[in-house]
Parts: sequence; C-alpha cells; structure tokens
Amino acid sequence: MNELLTTIGLEIHVELATRTKMFCGCPVAFGGDPNTRVCHVCLGHPGALPVPNGQAVANAAKIGMALGSSIARHSIFHRKNYFYPDMPKNYQISQYDIPLCLGGSIDVGGARIGITRVHLEEDTGKSLHVGGGGRIHGADHSLEDFNRAGTPLVEIVSEPDMTSADQARAFATELRAIIECLDVSDIRMEEGSMRFDANISVAPPGERGAKVEVKNLNSLRSLHRALAYEEVRQREVLSAGGTIDQSTRHWDERVGVTRPLRTKEHAFDYRYFPEPDLVAIEPGEQWLADIEGQIPELPAARRSRFVADYGLPEYDAGVLVGSRPLAGFFEEAVRAASAAEAKTVANWLANDLLGRLAERSEGIEQTAVTPVHLAALVDLVAAGTISGAQGKEVLSAMVATGADPATIVEEKGLRQVSGRDELAAVVTQVLEANAEVAGRVRTGDHKPLGFLVGQVMKVTKGQANPSVVQALLREMLSP
Ligand SMILES: [Zn+2]
Repeated sequence: MNELLTTIGLEIHVELATRTKMFCGCPVAFGGDPNTRVCHVCLGHPGALPVPNGQAVANAAKIGMALGSSIARHSIFHRKNYFYPDMPKNYQISQYDIPLCLGGSIDVGGARIGITRVHLEEDTGKSLHVGGGGRIHGADHSLEDFNRAGTPLVEIVSEPDMTSADQARAFATELRAIIECLDVSDIRMEEGSMRFDANISVAPPGERGAKVEVKNLNSLRSLHRALAYEEVRQREVLSAGGTIDQSTRHWDERVGVTRPLRTKEHAFDYRYFPEPDLVAIEPGEQWLADIEGQIPELPAARRSRFVADYGLPEYDAGVLVGSRPLAGFFEEAVRAASAAEAKTVANWLANDLLGRLAERSEGIEQTAVTPVHLAALVDLVAAGTISGAQGKEVLSAMVATGADPATIVEEKGLRQVSGRDELAAVVTQVLEANAEVAGRVRTGDHKPLGFLVGQVMKVTKGQANPSVVQALLREMLSP
C-alpha cells in the first residue's frame, strides 16, 4: 500500500453571547424550564416577522476581522429548508452563497490553515429522546425544548488544510482563544456554546478520498479522539483493499468509536432561498471602523509580545495566553513584582498556583490569590527571605485563605536563615554528629554531601539557605 495522506476540514458553530435571540427579543440563556424563552417569532408562527440582532451581526463581523476575513458590504440571509423536530419553522435562517465574512486564516505551529467563510445563523431547539438509549432511533418518544431555538450562531468553516488530529485540535484551541479574547461568546463547551463538525478523508497523494463527516463533537477532547479514531479506521479499510463511502458518522464518546449516521443517498437535500422577510446586511464604513477598533490584542500577537518583552520561552507564552484571564493575571503580577524575573513569576503561576487551583477545581478567575500577592510571594523567595520550599507552603496557605504572603510568613514564623555565622554553628554540629560520613567526604567521596545538606535542613526545620549550607560544607570539608 502506498503512503496515505489525511485531509481534515472543520466546521465550528459558536453561540454568540448576546442578550437576546437572533431575530426576536427572547432572552438568550442556558438551562431553565423548557419552552419558557420562546415567542411567535422563534417558534415560527405564521405572520411572525424576524428582526436581526445588531449585536450578533457586530460579533460575527468582529470574529471575521480577527481571522483576517474580508467583510462583505452586502450579504443576505437564506432560508435553509428541512424538516427536523427541533426546527420549529421547518427552515433555519442562515447565510448561503453570500456570507458576511469570506476568507482569512489561522496560523498553527507554523502552518497556515485557511478560513473559507464565517456566516451567521440561528440555533435550533433541543430534542430529548426518551427510551432507546437516548438516541432518536428506537426512542419511545421525543420531547422538544425550543429555548435555544433562535440563539445567534456563527459558523466558521475552515479549508481542508489540516493533516492530523493533533493539528485539528491545535487549530480549534487557537480559534477558541481568539473568540475568548474577542468577548463575543462565553464558549462554555459543556453547555454546547462551541461545537465541531469535522470532515476527514484519507487517500494516496494526489487523489481525493471520500469525505466522511463526523458530527456534533462537543469538546476539544472529543474532536481529537474522533479524528484519531476515524483516521485509523479509514487507513485500515483502505489498506485492506476496501473503499470508504462518503457518509456522515456519529461519535460515541462513551465507547470511543464513530458509527454510521447516514450515507450520501439519505443526506438532506436542503432547499435554500433568500429569506423574504429580512433585508440585506450592508455595513457602512463607520460601523466597520468602530468594530475594528474594538478588537483587542489577539492571542498570536500577545504570545509574541510575551516572548519578546518578558523573555519567556514559546511554550510558557502559549500556556499563559491560552486563557485571557490567565494572561491578564500574569501581566499584573509581573508589573507588581520588583525582585523576581518574569520567567520566575510565570513558573509560580503556571506550575504552582494553577496546580493548586486544579486540585480545588477552581479557575484563575475564582481564586482568592491576587496578582499582587503572588508577586509579593515570588519576591520574598527571590530575595532569599524564605526558601523555595517555604514559598510553596506559603502559596498553599494563600490559596486557602486569600491572606497576603507577608502575613503568612509572619504567622508561621517562616524565614530563611542565610547568615554564615548562624549556619556555621549548625554545620559544625552536624559534622560532629556524622563524623564517619564527614571523613569520607574529606577523603574525596562527594556523594554523601547531599545527605549532610539534608541533615542541616532537618536541624533548621527547612529554614537554612541550601546554597549557603553547601558552600560552608565544601569549605569545612576541603582536604
Ligand atoms: Zn423569540
């Protein structure tokens, strides 16, 4: 079998964080009693007239601009006709051949992934299938909740430029960071506000493989797992001499496999026609300029700045910029720190503080630790007032109580002993108690040095400055 290449394209739906729905005044929210946020417009009653939500159009344009799309000076809505229980109107208002945003790209690990289009549409309702394992096939009956129907969505369609599940996940991660940065969606994936459909094909170089669509992936983890599974499945079928049919598959998160949903023969034949009740979107210069002015520093630019200005390694910059609150926390802490290097602040934040917060299932937004307090802690360690180990103890107390580090150091009676005279007395005492070990070091065996340092730390209850102790030991044990 010749070498096989994998081709992946993504369609990403993002719910826009607006106060009201796309075409009516019903509030946008998650959960609540079924069918309590609905009206004649979002239920599609005869004669109901949709009115576009200006904030949703602005949010979509903002996303397009951030991705480098060109914003259409004239775009229209279409009705996408199909029957499905969660579509109360039997059509969805969407954009078709004249979308709001065309083109653009995202750079991921040195590769440029093209954006085909970004368009606006409305979300559907939610079906609850009762019996039959919760799937529509075999269910006893289905219930419909239309609270979500009409929620503003953008659909972001990528070019089929990705070649692996890893790259697709990296692309989706970067897109999520960009959208978070723009403040246009709450991107709570567990609530379905960002969802993925993926197209994947495997074929020998120069050939086009049959496209398999994997629908409704609700997390970055599902996206990655589904693509990795599907890539292996298609390669195995092809390597065994089989063929792949163009089809749609469903990802079973629990079992970790994709299953056929429908083949091309049964695919929906959407009939599109221009929505007669809505006028075209024709943004003016000033409106576009205003939106452009609202776009903050984007993650890629912020990462480069973190590397250039703070001397951080790419990896650290990537971790910090992956979340806007985390990046903001870091910058505030660096500004507040007087003695510590930015890289040291980054380590304490990304490794120590985030680690402790993860244990408590807390996010950086919820923690009682302020950037100023973290900076003060890192400064105490950098200045040698407390040791690194003591610093970690202080941080744990900060996470638990929100107290400032100086107070905790005081209360716990922590301080690092760096004075040579004070430590020399302890070192002498330890050497006397361990005469045999000391003798071995004197005759050139340096292995037990670590043991002796440990003994000094023990006697001083961890307060001795280890580098001073090492220097003293070397001096006192030199032949
Ligand atoms: Zn409504």
